Amino acid sequence: MVVLLEQEPPTYESALAIAAGLAPHTIFPSDCMSPLPHPDLLPNAPRTYRFGVHQGVDFRCFSLGRSAVAALDGRVVLIVGDYQDPAPNDRDELLEIAGDLEATPPFTLLTLYGNFVVIDHGVFPYIGHVVTVYAHLHEVDPGVGVGQTIRAGQRIGDIGNRGTHAAANGDFYDDPHLHWELHINNQYLGAGLTAEQTREVYTTLFSESLG
Ligand SMILES: [Zn+2]
Repeated sequence: MVVLLEQEPPTYESALAIAAGLAPHTIFPSDCMSPLPHPDLLPNAPRTYRFGVHQGVDFRCFSLGRSAVAALDGRVVLIVGDYQDPAPNDRDELLEIAGDLEATPPFTLLTLYGNFVVIDHGVFPYIGHVVTVYAHLHEVDPGVGVGQTIRAGQRIGDIGNRGTHAAANGDFYDDPHLHWELHINNQYLGAGLTAEQTREVYTTLFSESLG
């Protein structure tokens, strides 16, 4: 039986073991800049504009036209492919609510993803339920459909900046990057860890990708 109730995040040692267990199945979800040397691009980095912390890994691309690909084999569970960026003032007012709460409300966080795809990778023995998120897409490939199986390395769409402050101001060329999240049993991998521990965990996760 798999327990999906909220649980304590894995300890550093457990998070490292999870990363090592997934590494043979996991590739970089883009060939853009490696985020591993940059704590600000990894989970747990502060995101003060929305009064929260980063839950994902940012692959910065510096130009449009780069591909987001599935990091592991799985099945598509959610697609937002017709995202409309909010007017700048409306976006600011949504974020003021985050300020009142001193946290990013979950559905506001979804709005900040722009176009995005979620892939369910099933349950891995001794690891748990694995889900990945691919956000700020410029476009989702029309061939990608909810429920479909997808292979590691298969293209999902074009990386962009939809959902960001710049996109709300009509600039789709500013800092295109893939925001990628890895969730284990409904928590992002790295929750509760220090910046250095998080970097070690994600370096282990992508160790096969790095050759
Ligand atoms: Zn991000």
